[in-house]
Amino acid sequence: MVAFKSKMVESISLPSRDRRERNLEAAGYNVFNLDADEVFIDLLTDSGTGAMSDAQWAALIRGDESYAGSRSFDRLESAVADVMGFSHVIPAHQGRGAENVLYGTLLSSGDVVPNNTHFDTTRAHVANQGGEPVDCPVEVAFDPDADDPFKGNTSLARLREVVDDVGTERVPLIVQTITNNSTAGQPVSVENTRRVREFADEIDATFVVDACRFAENAAFVSRREAEFVGEDVGAIAREQLSYADAVVMSGKKDGLVNAGGFVATDDPDLYERCKERAILYEGFPTYGGMAGRDIAAMAVGLREAVEESYVFDRIDAVDEFGSMLADVGVPVYEPVGGHAVYLDAGTALSHLPCEVFPGQAFVCELYREGGVRGVELGSFAFPDTDRPELVRLAVPRRTYHREHFEHVAETAERVLEKRERVSGLEITSEPEIAELRHFTAGLEPIPS
Ligand SMILES: *Cc1c(COP(=O)(O)O)cnc(C)c1O
Repeated sequence: MVAFKSKMVESISLPSRDRRERNLEAAGYNVFNLDADEVFIDLLTDSGTGAMSDAQWAALIRGDESYAGSRSFDRLESAVADVMGFSHVIPAHQGRGAENVLYGTLLSSGDVVPNNTHFDTTRAHVANQGGEPVDCPVEVAFDPDADDPFKGNTSLARLREVVDDVGTERVPLIVQTITNNSTAGQPVSVENTRRVREFADEIDATFVVDACRFAENAAFVSRREAEFVGEDVGAIAREQLSYADAVVMSGKKDGLVNAGGFVATDDPDLYERCKERAILYEGFPTYGGMAGRDIAAMAVGLREAVEESYVFDRIDAVDEFGSMLADVGVPVYEPVGGHAVYLDAGTALSHLPCEVFPGQAFVCELYREGGVRGVELGSFAFPDTDRPELVRLAVPRRTYHREHFEHVAETAERVLEKRERVSGLEITSEPEIAELRHFTAGLEPIPS
């Protein structure tokens, strides 16, 4: 049951078909180049795109903009202590700022960093410190049909293998990402977090949890992990995070705000070391590049994120959206994760080989047919990797309703009906950094 009503609304409209065709062409068949006003339902990302509550707006107005020791920072400190269980917090302008502070403090050149799956900015920050990011997902993560409750888990066997390979001295840090964003937003069990903690102790490594979606993860645990079924989501979240030496957080996810992030820890030495780097890159450690008002709103958002009336509604809405798509015949990654539905465009458009980007073709058709914006996470976004041709439809928090999701499902159904007529795409211009090409590259349909 949806546990909120609207107090403020924003108009959206579906541009005409002619206009969508023209927009698509002008955008070089890259939906990152579309004006947001020309998009009807925007499922590009769940990052910073959600709606704040009236309590958050109220906190925003009462934000304290003092450079040092603001009242808003005190509110954040107590929210992080109550909700996540850490006594020290360092704000940052967003998640990647927090990553720079923490990983820049912990890593040196030549280090190897295992993670269940690195999110792209995490991978980049590890690499930027001269480290080597290594993914250790469980096998079942790559099977879009496998019915497993925790496909986001870290593989302990793989973790051990990596450490045996390079030696314990080169692994000063282990990271676990909950939920596992890059693996279709799949959750991680508390038992798995415990076992990674034990392993980190065994090799004397620091254990960091990337906690961007810690509340959604706890909601899954409360539904799926026998030991915790029916237990309070807030209590589960605290228990899972209690195994970490530190967390990195993007407030744009389960902080329920449009900007911000932080590092949190109980370790006084690590806190002192992080503070120095925070001043260099983010700002004085009681604001870290955030406005006091945004810190105040994030403090409220963290508390709201673990309210069961909010978070169960959140994961249920995403799950229901996944079912709507599956019901019209769209191949969907199962089970549906916490923040997005992932479609398998390689199967949906099986006549298109990966060289002509079936995922990107599907993304363009969703816009052409219904003004819907998603994002390709297949051969176009990840050149030279052997990945399934996935399209992500991310769901902004507290923003869209059932009718919107129905429109997306109907749009996807229309794409499927004309699937044989969907042509592949070729790249006409691309940036120098191949890893970033999906943000800016231009494409063109290949005439059939
Ligand atoms: C979004 C995200 C980040 C980075 O956060 P930003 O606020 O976008 O900089 C890091 N890790 C994970 C798992 C994320 O989803």
